[in-house]
Amino acid sequence: MEERLLRWFEENGRDLPWRRTRDPYRILVSEVMLQQTQVPRVIPRYLAWIERWPTVEALAAAPRAAVIREWQGLGYNRRAVSLHRAAQRVTRSGWPDDLTELPGVGAYTAAAVRRFAFGEAVLPLDTNVRRVIERSGSEFEPEAAAALMDLGATVCLARIPRCAACPLADGCPSRGRRYEPLRKQSRFEGSFRQRRAETLRLVAAGRSSGLDEEAVASLAQDGLVEVRAGLARLPQ
Ligand code: SF4
Repeated sequence: MEERLLRWFEENGRDLPWRRTRDPYRILVSEVMLQQTQVPRVIPRYLAWIERWPTVEALAAAPRAAVIREWQGLGYNRRAVSLHRAAQRVTRSGWPDDLTELPGVGAYTAAAVRRFAFGEAVLPLDTNVRRVIERSGSEFEPEAAAALMDLGATVCLARIPRCAACPLADGCPSRGRRYEPLRKQSRFEGSFRQRRAETLRLVAAGRSSGLDEEAVASLAQDGLVEVRAGLARLPQ
């Protein structure tokens, strides 16, 4: 199964900018962006980010406000603060053996950096990889990580897999099955998440008062804004 998968990947693998590097900083940036944002939206933002801050040291030295501004529009802005803190920690003390010690880095992101940057023999299990493994009932080596991700993202789709185009179809016990729609992500419109995003946008644009107080308090707690003498601003 794995050989067939790898042959398919050679022909059909996605050419993603973060696959052209083994720099752990660049891999980390891509993985943090991809945590909650789709690949097509991440690509231009990743390229702009790397052009602006090409190294971990450059990001660590950047003002927090600039980092938050650059993140605008990617959503879940807390990730920007965590990424900035992680860069500062790495610049100070190097990459830790346990990458989950870095702010905003969970088990999956740590495994992805270990695999794609450091070449370690770990298989990062994201949603796509898990789905292909579960459905095909096969085991795969860490070398197949990127191929599994692409198969899950483009062929072994969540609801209606494209089994006719799948290199694992011969011998896949789930071939031809259909799946129930996944639970939809909670609505953004009218949510507290939207109020926070709008408030942060206003603060980034220079508004310091007359803001949604609840949203400001929540943003301040996450280190995304500072409140001094009742006025909100991006962290200095
Ligand atoms: S045959 Fe279908 S269900 Fe099985 S791994 Fe391929 S796309 Fe997924």
